[in-house]
Amino acid sequence: MLALVTGASRGIGRAIAIELAKNNFDVAINCSKSLDSAKNVKDEIINLGRKCEIFQADVSDYNQAEEMFKSIKSFFNESVSILVNNAGITRDNLLMRMKPEEWQQVINSNLNSVFNCTKSAIRDMAKNKFGRIINISSVVGLTGNAGQANYSASKAGIIGFTKSIARECASRGITANAIAPGFIETSMTEILKPEIKADILKTIPAGKMGSPEEVAKAVIFFAGESSSYITGQVLAVDGGMTMI
Ligand code: NAP
Repeated sequence: MLALVTGASRGIGRAIAIELAKNNFDVAINCSKSLDSAKNVKDEIINLGRKCEIFQADVSDYNQAEEMFKSIKSFFNESVSILVNNAGITRDNLLMRMKPEEWQQVINSNLNSVFNCTKSAIRDMAKNKFGRIINISSVVGLTGNAGQANYSASKAGIIGFTKSIARECASRGITANAIAPGFIETSMTEILKPEIKADILKTIPAGKMGSPEEVAKAVIFFAGESSSYITGQVLAVDGGMTMI
């Protein structure tokens, strides 16, 4: 069975792609720029004995996303059954200072990308009467966060989108769920100042950051048979940060 992970060249997407391969899925991996890192991920997956190819596309662009799905189908001779919408960026700033470009870039990359890819995936999933859509949101989509109005809005938008398509598609054998990671060790969080990291750590009952692999394990649950009757849910993987 074929999975697509967007933004799979590093961090959480990389861990998800590798974990899917370990669980016997063939994997299409996407990124927009970081081809060298994506090649390492591809090598790791091929070493695990699964088929893998890189599809470079900016998923915030509707046409590029649509073309990517066509290329994936013709390469694997199979349509995507498991779609993991993971690609995302931050452009943090207080609202008073936030430029319209910072708002738009984040909404385009984090939310419009989810629409673009899901729209391209859904027709074949409906035809096959099977599909798993797994959207990577964030705890700040549930709680909000100062300095992240753009990012939090995009991640909350993903949750509304997930629940809506879960309702639309449930009778066609398609589930749609979201994962809300907390504070995970990747290049996205590496850039935070030590004092900000220390403040965030104080809010995590587990007392530590999560690993990309811990998020990937939740994706495997939603991709597999064990979650077949679960749809429209949001699972926080956050060391107890939210408990909502
Ligand atoms: P990361 O290390 O910065 O990786 C982001 C990935 O997304 C990269 O592979 C990047 O590749 C890709 N990407 C970004 N924009 C893209 C676009 N327009 N088209 C295609 N690929 C694109 O980030 P991460 O921490 O692993 O985050 C992964 C997801 O988890 C994001 O949605 C993020 O919001 C979410 N999340 C992260 C945390 C955390 O603490 N790290 C917490 C909650 C949620 P290119 O650079 O090549 O485009």
